[in-house]
Amino acid sequence: MKTIGMLGGMSWESTVPYYRLINQRVQERLGGLHSARILLYSLDFQEVERLQHAGEWDRAGTLLADAAQRLQTAGAGFLIICTNTMHKVAPAVKAATTLPLLHIADPTALAVVAAGFRRVGLLGTRFTMEEDFYRERLQDEHGLEVLIPDAGDRLEVHRIIYEELCQGVVDDGSRAVYRGVIDRLIARGAEAVILGCTEISLLVEQKDSRVPLFDTTTLHARAAADHALDD
Ligand code: GLU
Repeated sequence: MKTIGMLGGMSWESTVPYYRLINQRVQERLGGLHSARILLYSLDFQEVERLQHAGEWDRAGTLLADAAQRLQTAGAGFLIICTNTMHKVAPAVKAATTLPLLHIADPTALAVVAAGFRRVGLLGTRFTMEEDFYRERLQDEHGLEVLIPDAGDRLEVHRIIYEELCQGVVDDGSRAVYRGVIDRLIARGAEAVILGCTEISLLVEQKDSRVPLFDTTTLHARAAADHALDD
């Protein structure tokens, strides 16, 4: 079994389910008392968030690259970045070590395609929804058509992530907001919706949507466990 190097803490609220989901998958596959070999480097999210909103992505990339090097030195066999947004600096993380990086968009897109969908809605931070680094991977490498919410909805989806979910606040009113956003994506033709932020599944479940939801936390964690086991 390979040792999984997790870049986590972004936010820690979503790193907790990663840890549980990875271990559950290993237990499901190997049985008994088996659990995953994991090294976790948990960053201070206050620092990361400040760099994100200041547009200082090079410095954010350096932070994660330094953490990735420490994981390699400690014996990680491959890396995962436990957030969609910070895949914006995936190239810096990749360049910092010789380890493979399991990109969060890949198992997600593979699951969407395997289920027979092509036109998907994408929820996430404004960085993930509005910039190219994530959508282009879904579109260019996996052939998906990606719909994002309108500007007002994007602001609300983003605000709820940082002001509530990353701080452990799960609010019924915010769930209703997300339901409305999902409904409007469906009205525009979304056949499925990607929960492209690792905290959204703390708030939204399948019963909140009339189309299938694809949760990046679950899909990424499961793919990481499978990759660790498939020598
Ligand atoms: N965890 C979130 C994501 O998946 C947002 C927090 C962050 O900016 O890293 O994008």
